[in-house]
Amino acid sequence: MNKQKLLASIPAINDFLAAKKAEKIIKKYSRARFLKILRKELEEIREMILTEGVEIAQKKLEVSEVLNSVLKKLESEEEKGVKKVINAGGVILHTNLGRSLLAENALKKVEEVAGGYSTLEFDLESGSRGYRYNRIKQLLKDLTGAESAVVVNNNAAAVMLVLSSISEAKEVIIARGEMVEIGGSFRVPEVMESSGAILKEVGSTNKVYLKDYLDAVSEKTGALLKVHTSNYRIQGFTHSVSAEEMVEAAHQHDLPVIEDLGSGILFDLSKYGLPGEPTVQEGIAAGIDILTFSGDKLLGGPQSGIIVGRDKYISQIEQHPLMRALRVDKMTLAALEETLKLYYNLEEALQKIPTLRLLTEKTKNVRNRAEKLKSKIETPAGVNLKIIESEAKVGGGAYPLSTFKSYALAVDTGNLSTDKFVYRLRQLKTPVIARIQAGEAIFDLKTIPEKQLDQLAFSINKILAEVF
Ligand SMILES: *Cc1c(COP(=O)(O)O)cnc(C)c1O
Repeated sequence: MNKQKLLASIPAINDFLAAKKAEKIIKKYSRARFLKILRKELEEIREMILTEGVEIAQKKLEVSEVLNSVLKKLESEEEKGVKKVINAGGVILHTNLGRSLLAENALKKVEEVAGGYSTLEFDLESGSRGYRYNRIKQLLKDLTGAESAVVVNNNAAAVMLVLSSISEAKEVIIARGEMVEIGGSFRVPEVMESSGAILKEVGSTNKVYLKDYLDAVSEKTGALLKVHTSNYRIQGFTHSVSAEEMVEAAHQHDLPVIEDLGSGILFDLSKYGLPGEPTVQEGIAAGIDILTFSGDKLLGGPQSGIIVGRDKYISQIEQHPLMRALRVDKMTLAALEETLKLYYNLEEALQKIPTLRLLTEKTKNVRNRAEKLKSKIETPAGVNLKIIESEAKVGGGAYPLSTFKSYALAVDTGNLSTDKFVYRLRQLKTPVIARIQAGEAIFDLKTIPEKQLDQLAFSINKILAEVF
């Protein structure tokens, strides 16, 4: 058969539609999706006839062959959206894996509020329009000691909005050592530029003194900015200016101090063996005028950017046109309110907020989970298992230098390449994200809850059985 003839013999769409199998596919995936993939598939076959010759293409032309291929593509398309994974990497706040896990009460509230009507912007007392942020404002005032508060989409948005509202077209003074980049897309200098503020760098990379800030103040100055170097530390021959000193100097010139705290925690974690990070309350007590932080880092809530501080600045921020563009939806608000409520009782917060529970959990529990996982693995000949001490991380740009002791299952896959093993685990319906270390696949139990052990063991056993 020549190319032209073969092209002419491609079955018509109706021939495919008439097949029993097509009916099944359409029932599951809709006619529109079926036709979209089918047309693409036929286009590829035409292309193949023209470029790769008749023989190869001929086999692919069978109606059932084409339908099988369409089904496969639809199935794989289906797997592409956001879905649950098992995080065996030991990084608690993994930005790529969705950062913090919500507490039960937050999840329940989201379901309730998202599936039905709610009081999002409705005042039950007057029966008319209410303000979206009333309740969250109260919670944040109570918990942080700030005069006022508001919430936007994420901390990047918060910083941008604050700078736009407070210091548009004005100079914002920042130390060179604090020109942070977070995960590639958030760079302090770029955020400042797009907010309309003018960057005024002072000091050197490792040292900045109060005098540097003061020398830079002029009638063009809009604010002093402090950025928490959340994902790196400058160590050694260094000097920085305390919040109190900055506040005192700024207030003498009637200027506000803004601080981007990054993670933002509401209590001192040093009691739990983690290095002391500045808390939001400390910033407020030091007189910082506006503080911003993420809702989904150490706080353990949904993605959001929290702004707390002096009433006069927060009102200014709330009236900025960007506020409307950056406002949070009802699901975020519901989850954040419920998460914050737990903080009235710290013990409760540590138990019920998964991020905090993982951070403060006893290492011996992690070891127990590692033992349990190991006992569930059916080891083929040539494969070796051992429990190793590992180093878990907080992640999310918090505690950059510290790791904490954790336990992991290390799987030595012998002749099978570890890369392949780890790859196959990622392709499962519920993907397992493991890492490779010294040629072994590492499953860190810090981020694997008890209730996922069976599923994880099943997945590891399945892949081991398939390849051995
Ligand atoms: C994480 C971080 C941000 C960005 O916060 P998002 O909530 O991810 O937008 C900004 N600044 C600092 C210092 C951070 O650590």
